[in-house]
Amino acid sequence: MFIPYGRQTIDDEDISAVVEVLKSDYLTTGPKIEEFEKVVAEYVGAKYAVAISNGTAALHAACAAAGIQSGDEVITSPITFVASANCVLYCGGTPVFADIDSETYNISLEDIRRKITNKTKAIIPVHYAGQPCNMDAIHKIAEEHNLIVIEDGAHALGAEYKGKRIGGLSDMTTFSFHPVKHITTGEGGMITTNNVQLYEKLKLFRSHGITRDEGMMRKKEGDWYYEQLSLGYNYRITDIQCALGISQMKKLDGFLKRRKEIVMGYQEAFKGMENIIVPTVAEGCESSWHLYVIQVKNCQRKKVFDSLRDAGIGVNVHYIPVYKQPYYQENGYKEVKCVQAEQLYQQMISIPLYPGLTNEQQDCVIEKVINAVKFNEI
Ligand SMILES: *Cc1c(COP(=O)(O)O)cnc(C)c1O
Repeated sequence: MFIPYGRQTIDDEDISAVVEVLKSDYLTTGPKIEEFEKVVAEYVGAKYAVAISNGTAALHAACAAAGIQSGDEVITSPITFVASANCVLYCGGTPVFADIDSETYNISLEDIRRKITNKTKAIIPVHYAGQPCNMDAIHKIAEEHNLIVIEDGAHALGAEYKGKRIGGLSDMTTFSFHPVKHITTGEGGMITTNNVQLYEKLKLFRSHGITRDEGMMRKKEGDWYYEQLSLGYNYRITDIQCALGISQMKKLDGFLKRRKEIVMGYQEAFKGMENIIVPTVAEGCESSWHLYVIQVKNCQRKKVFDSLRDAGIGVNVHYIPVYKQPYYQENGYKEVKCVQAEQLYQQMISIPLYPGLTNEQQDCVIEKVINAVKFNEI
């Protein structure tokens, strides 16, 4: 038996929702797209939402809508999936990495300030593992320096900052519906915003820059007529995927509750263990617990990791500091050093967390983690 670190929860209702679309008139751009967008926008407390082919496309679209281009610098965290930085490169901009805070593992406010130059155009804070960043402080910095804020909320669907859900707080927030995330559409993503201009740009970007909206067109030659107003991509999501997303959204609160329950079990089990550092949640924040990440002390992480994998526990490491990737090393990031990020990377392990994890499986994970740390102590 192998227990993965994360996995989707799909039931018969989800399956019927997908099958229903397969029998309908629209497989791709049909009524399910707007319906899904509306459900997510309402849930997160944003005025507008644009559903898109995946979370990476969501970040690309957000950077493009923000006007990121060659010469612009965008500050993000190194402890994230590569997409949070790659999206800046897609637009010709330069990702700049600010170190993390050693308590929250989120981007450090002090280091954001240190990394700001007159080329800085935006900040992409990542709500790592589901823990919201200090958004008040980030907005203050952004205001002082006239920066756009794009939250990478891939881990944070349902997370709360000072009583408000992540998704309606900044210029734009992006989400991913990859199967390990809180809800899934197979592949899928969303951008939420309260700004109607950004909303229109995001919609154009998703579909070739093409519009059929008469209000936006230069002229109208007939009912066949459409106009390409900007350079966009085919980043459309399908009705099949959105039907799954709508069905999954009905279960999100239950998923979040179960994730939290599992986390509380881990916190209790590892309490007082000298060589296991458990995650903390900052005041005023409600984590959506996408990942449960421990740090192991006084032992070799690789040995603990390998012994857990051998025991059938699907542990993982989130993440290798992005600038350490060969692509970044070979393209100007050799001198970058984020001390806290590198230290965390050496010690971190993500252990299984998903709604379908049973109590028995969790007990098994706990026992094996405690043993692995004990037997590999140095
Ligand atoms: C998953 C993820 C993404 C990318 O989402 P995809 O849907 O896989 O493209 C971006 N940022 C973070 C932090 C993620 O975890």
